Amino acid sequence: MKITELLASDMVTVSCELFPPKHGSALARVKSVVRDTAMLDPSFISVTYGAGGATADLTISLANEIQNVCGVTALAHLTCVSTEREAVRGVLAALRAHGVENILALRGDIPEGTLFPELGQYRFASELMADIRDFGGFCVGGACYPEGHPESESLQKDIESLKIKADCGCEFLTTQMFFDNNILYNFMFRLLRNGIQLPVVAGVMPVTDSRQIARICKLSGAVLPPRFKAIVDRFSTHPAAMKQAGVAYATEQIIDLVANGVNHIHIYTMNKPDIAGRIMRNLSEIFT
Ligand code: FAD
Repeated sequence: MKITELLASDMVTVSCELFPPKHGSALARVKSVVRDTAMLDPSFISVTYGAGGATADLTISLANEIQNVCGVTALAHLTCVSTEREAVRGVLAALRAHGVENILALRGDIPEGTLFPELGQYRFASELMADIRDFGGFCVGGACYPEGHPESESLQKDIESLKIKADCGCEFLTTQMFFDNNILYNFMFRLLRNGIQLPVVAGVMPVTDSRQIARICKLSGAVLPPRFKAIVDRFSTHPAAMKQAGVAYATEQIIDLVANGVNHIHIYTMNKPDIAGRIMRNLSEIFT
């Protein structure tokens, strides 16, 4: 099923995210994670794409597992920086052959020490989106950043780049993680004010291990609200309590989002179906 069809209904949707292993030898283990995640009955499962396409085959294999073995709609991520257009067409052909209909089209992070790509190479996700549209047959989503992309000079410039994405065939947006819902509400207001009416899937990251936090903030630029910082200060030395508090924080964040009309929730489950399961059980009546 195309994800836009799922997002068009008034129903609350909840999706999960997995990442492929670094080496094919660990594929069987991640496939068992796929099966455990699929048992939670999410609306769709996304699978990330390793920077530069080094693990493209593993992303394709997991998308196939999600879609054809587990019977859950798959969303395959695809990045384009440092990638030849021919290689992109190869991935699109493989996904099409497996019946995967949904792609989250991304630029990817520019590797450190590399110059900004030149004309002729992919420079922005919107260029990839245009190529996927020309290839045909896929529902295409893109990333957005409620707190602004770290490279953007302003949130307004960032929002203007989302307009370009929409013009190039982007049909829905998935947000970077955020820990303060007011930031998302403000961002959604700005989208509407700029005439961007794409469905937005809100990305929620359950932080259940305090060691994740520095990396998350560095990668996403997300601001940590005082309530969240207090949880980390109090429980970081007690892993089981941190896990419980992280699940509770994500649960409350989702309840507030749904209560305020944000119906589409993406949980960054990071190959932890137990955490996703705990959140989904907490929300069982809300997700029906
Ligand atoms: P773009 O949309 O190209 O934007 C990059 C920057 O360029 C932004 O600052 C934007 O404002 C600016 N820009 C965009 N278009 C233009 C234009 N036409 N003119 C001028 N400026 C422009 N990374 C991975 O490697 N694998 C993954 O699987 C993955 N999944 C992700 C999923 C989500 C939901 C999110 C939010 C991020 C994900 N990332 C992933 C990280 C992502 O690749 C990086 O954040 C990357 O730096 C930007 O990707 P993008 O698709 O947003 O790029």
